[in-house]
Amino acid sequence: MDRPARRRLEEPALKAPSADQHRLLDVQALDTKIAQLTHRRATLPEHAKLADVTQRQDVLRDQLVVVQTEESDLDRELKKAEGDVDQVRARTERDQKRLDAGQVSSPKELESLQHEIATLGRRQGDLEEIVLEIMERLESAQSRQAELTAQQESATAEALELTAARDTATAEIDVEVEGLTAQRSTQVSGIDRSLVTLYEKIREQQGGVGAAELKARRCTGCRLELNNVEIGRLRDAPEDDVLRCEECRRILVRTVESGL
Ligand SMILES: [Zn+2]
Repeated sequence: MDRPARRRLEEPALKAPSADQHRLLDVQALDTKIAQLTHRRATLPEHAKLADVTQRQDVLRDQLVVVQTEESDLDRELKKAEGDVDQVRARTERDQKRLDAGQVSSPKELESLQHEIATLGRRQGDLEEIVLEIMERLESAQSRQAELTAQQESATAEALELTAARDTATAEIDVEVEGLTAQRSTQVSGIDRSLVTLYEKIREQQGGVGAAELKARRCTGCRLELNNVEIGRLRDAPEDDVLRCEECRRILVRTVESGL
């Protein structure tokens, strides 16, 4: 199968010692590992869990503000209602004292005073009921606040734990990446410069994979199985020819497992 159009598009053939091409596969393996670790670092489960907890903390904070506002409103209401009760009680006492002291002699005034005392008594009963009702609402707001505070504390503890776990996992990955990066730079320093440059260029364009082994007649970069004509061409190419996959354009490295 001839592909004249494709051929013309090919860059001038690059040559690099076969040993360098093999070393390039090791560099690729290291780069793949580093990329996997970087991905793992970015997608640690702790990130999502922390985002969840943070969201929960935000909701709890808002709920606490609401319940605290409610509490201080009820506190104010309670003081006012208690003040009302005190006022009525004081007035009743004053009236009762006048009555007990026998200061009121006119029957009409006496009747009016007794009537007022009775009215004040009913009024005090109503006000005391209001006080009780407010106290109940205040108690329920307080227990709600206690519940929310407990939830907030447990969320804080959870966030601290997750942060620590995330930091530990991140630090471990960083150490691993650092080691691999050092290994990579040693490995790369021994390889033909133009081969490395080409590799970097393809790697950038091809999702992190710039060099692929030809294994059992397949490009391990794109999984394409090469046809007999293509295999023949690769077999006949000089050892130091830098070959490219016809399909994905990655550097195709021949090894003993290539099936040539
Ligand atoms: Zn390919």
